[in-house]
Amino acid sequence: MIVIGPPGCGKGTQSANIVKKYGLTHISTGDILREEVELHTAIGEIVKKFLDRGYLVPDDIVMREIFETAIKQKCDKGLLFDGFPRTLFQADYLDDIMYHRNEKINLVIHLNVEEEELFQRIVHRSEDAKKRSDDNEETVRNRLQVYYQKTFPLLEYYKKKHKLVTISGMAPIQGVFNAISSIIDDYINKS
Ligand code: ADP
Repeated sequence: MIVIGPPGCGKGTQSANIVKKYGLTHISTGDILREEVELHTAIGEIVKKFLDRGYLVPDDIVMREIFETAIKQKCDKGLLFDGFPRTLFQADYLDDIMYHRNEKINLVIHLNVEEEELFQRIVHRSEDAKKRSDDNEETVRNRLQVYYQKTFPLLEYYKKKHKLVTISGMAPIQGVFNAISSIIDDYINKS
């Protein structure tokens, strides 16, 4: 499955809850990219400037260096993609890979949160001791703009394939997770 939504919508938190409950393997391209930066790898040096400015890391780097390695992980019960795909190119590429593996995307959960709330959450998060280098106001504006430009079209893409379920991410964490769980349970019961 895929979890999709703007920065600050709670993708990371909810994805962690989902993988714990359903035993999926968690693939967060954002986490992997941040780790590369922290470890000062060759890729990390390249991607840092994109991350810090709130731009997407170019598709070829994400697919070749990040995704191809991540997808080789053990995944008996399935994979959960968090923050991936983020462009139509990545979505097409993922479909291709799934097709060749004789697998498919079952469910795409879209977490919808109002813009004002996103800002408040990220500003709050930036007061954290382990703050992210991309959680400052200017970069957040960029990240939101990039989301609406590049990632938003994926909602239509997955809607057409009848895989998209939109959930309000405005409620407290547990409330949102309950809503997500019932969507997943429904899906499992129907299939
Ligand atoms: P958020 O969505 O809250 O910004 P993420 O951890 O998902 O947090 O992503 C952080 C940053 O990592 C993004 O702003 C982008 O620069 C980069 N990134 C993550 N995933 C991708 C991806 N699939 N393609 C391109 N860039 C990505």
